[in-house]
Amino acid sequence: DCVIHWFRRDLRISDNTALWHAAKRGLPVVPVYIRSEWKNHHAWTGSNRQAFLCGSLESLAKNLQTLAGELIIRKGEAVNELATLIQETGAKAIFYNSDPDPFGKKVEAELRDYCSENGIECCAFHDVTLHAPGEVLTKSEQPYRVFTPYSKSWLELEKPSPHPKPGPLHTPSGIHSLELPTIRTWGLKEPEAEILTPGEHAARQRLKSAISGTVQRYQELRDLPAEEATSRLSQDLRFGLISIRTVYQRVMQARETCKPTERKNIDTFIKELAWREFYMAILHHFPDVLKHEFNEDWRGLPWNEPGESFEAWKEGKTGFPIIDAGMRQLKQTGFMHNRVRMITAMFLTKDLHLDWKLGESWFMQHLVDGEIASNNGGWQWSAGTGADAAPYFRIQNPWTQTERYDPAGKYIKRWVEELKDVPAERFMAPPKNGRPIADGYPLPIVDHKTEREKTLAIFKKHRPAK
Ligand code: FAD
Repeated sequence: DCVIHWFRRDLRISDNTALWHAAKRGLPVVPVYIRSEWKNHHAWTGSNRQAFLCGSLESLAKNLQTLAGELIIRKGEAVNELATLIQETGAKAIFYNSDPDPFGKKVEAELRDYCSENGIECCAFHDVTLHAPGEVLTKSEQPYRVFTPYSKSWLELEKPSPHPKPGPLHTPSGIHSLELPTIRTWGLKEPEAEILTPGEHAARQRLKSAISGTVQRYQELRDLPAEEATSRLSQDLRFGLISIRTVYQRVMQARETCKPTERKNIDTFIKELAWREFYMAILHHFPDVLKHEFNEDWRGLPWNEPGESFEAWKEGKTGFPIIDAGMRQLKQTGFMHNRVRMITAMFLTKDLHLDWKLGESWFMQHLVDGEIASNNGGWQWSAGTGADAAPYFRIQNPWTQTERYDPAGKYIKRWVEELKDVPAERFMAPPKNGRPIADGYPLPIVDHKTEREKTLAIFKKHRPAK
């Protein structure tokens, strides 16, 4: 007898709900990761995130050995592969943590059917957030559509504690496994970007340094992209290299020991974790946000056809230094600072009048932390079309945003080589003399004031009469 643990976006051994329950059965555990076929050619996939995934699987395989476990790798359609593995091993039960995305949920529904038809115990657990979407509802048991009341309810709920270390897994020997994947064996290009170190150990190190450093000054510095003053845990939460319960517990322990005047930093950080859960809840209750605008008033807006301006945005060659810095940071590292994600996203939709779905897809292809719910939420927020979005008329001005959040031009100079020696004041307004601010650097491809007026007119015209 044995049981299967199906690894998905929970690539860790510590505080892993389903793995802990699987080990508690006291039977041998077969840990498996199944690589789905669509990953190579979906418009949301790119080699940065896949390379991080490969590295994380390698580290998971090593970590499992410390529990007498051996990671089995399979490739194909998940339910077929799991059915084959059940036949090969005689497993009686399958354990997994539920996926918050519609794609993952569809596979889970198929697996549940397979299990009930074949007398296999199907054990699904909630693991990805502190609170499942159904736990945070209004008084009339409806999903929240606005963040502030959601976060109030969310904050009041008692938070789950981490699970203890799981017991030994004793994976039976001789089970067929593919080689541990690499970006090459998966037929993908080597990533262009220099990505962070993958794996559970690296994630724990990042949590440790965030708690002793960035989280302590989070409120003050988190909006300044040059400071690198955020936790950098997003890819770890995306792949489950660290559990959200552990993050919450450690951060709250730090709150206990810090000066009372500093607690606001940690409180602000915790609120960001609530944003992550808010967007996952939105995706859970309103999966159609992946197809169209959350706010139906804004469905069918007349977007421009993507052309040269879209290319300039993707490549970081718009002539707007803050936009170009952000887009180049994304290309070079697979990450972009949150403030700059908002500025670049608003620029695409409000200055270039391009569909937010184009940006959503470009971000998903490049971000190591590409998370369907947060990315869609962030894009719809910026486009003014989402749940609790910025109202359409609140359009960030890239020049004044630069003045406010990168006053010394430190962030811009770091990412835009051509602008290294240009005085920072030149990043805060379009050039007056009609000449580029540096050799080889483009003039702004649009005039912000003109495009802003256009956007206001487009939205006003589209708004249904109330
Ligand atoms: P920190 O500031 O240290 O925050 C801690 C954690 O809280 C993050 O790791 C993340 O899990 C969560 N978080 C913080 N801000 C947000 C937010 N606004 N929405 C949801 N969760 C948040 N985040 C992703 O994880 N994946 C994405 O694909 C993604 N796409 C985005 C697209 C756009 C257009 C925008 C505006 C935001 C997007 N975000 C996304 C949210 C945010 O930018 C990142 O979570 C953050 O920059 C990650 O850096 P960090 O880990 O240092 O964050």
